[in-house]
Amino acid sequence: MTDAYWETKTLDKMTESEWEGICDGCAKCCLHKFIDDENVEEQTFTDHLAPDENIHYTNIVCSLLNTKTCQCTKYSERTKLVPECVKLTKDNLKDIFFMPPSCSYRRLYEGRGLPSWHPLLNKGKKTKMHQQGMSVRGKTVFDCDVDIDKFEDYIAVWPLEDLD
Ligand code: SF4
Ligand code: SF4
Repeated sequence: MTDAYWETKTLDKMTESEWEGICDGCAKCCLHKFIDDENVEEQTFTDHLAPDENIHYTNIVCSLLNTKTCQCTKYSERTKLVPECVKLTKDNLKDIFFMPPSCSYRRLYEGRGLPSWHPLLNKGKKTKMHQQGMSVRGKTVFDCDVDIDKFEDYIAVWPLEDLD
């Protein structure tokens, strides 16, 4: 994978390893997100966003994340252990709006290319991404340590930031 395949292939044409290589490893997708809906009394999971609804990101992160490396500690079992853990695939690209603006899949999907801090443009290293504050490192609290009903106290705007 030495050529800049992400510049010549669309996401749906990528091989499995090319697809996996696009993930920058920021772990912003492991943050809890909430959608305000005044008509809903109890919190529930959803995969639908109405036109007048906004997603609020928080700094609450899944407790299975290693917050230093920003890697899942149970990657192969994650969907079993955390049912709401959604893996982005070619088949659910329509759900990409759940991903943060800096998500490399979303960037390619929206025609914005990979950012300069992406590991693929930095010899496979995540150093620049962490240095530029584009990962979750150093910014989170674990979901097992907070009262998730008080999510409003943890709403954060930094997950929405992007940097070319
Ligand atoms: S937000 Fe996107 S690019 Fe970042 S870790 Fe999640 S899937 Fe990968
Ligand atoms: S199970 Fe792993 S990949 Fe899924 S949200 Fe938790 S840390 Fe992230």
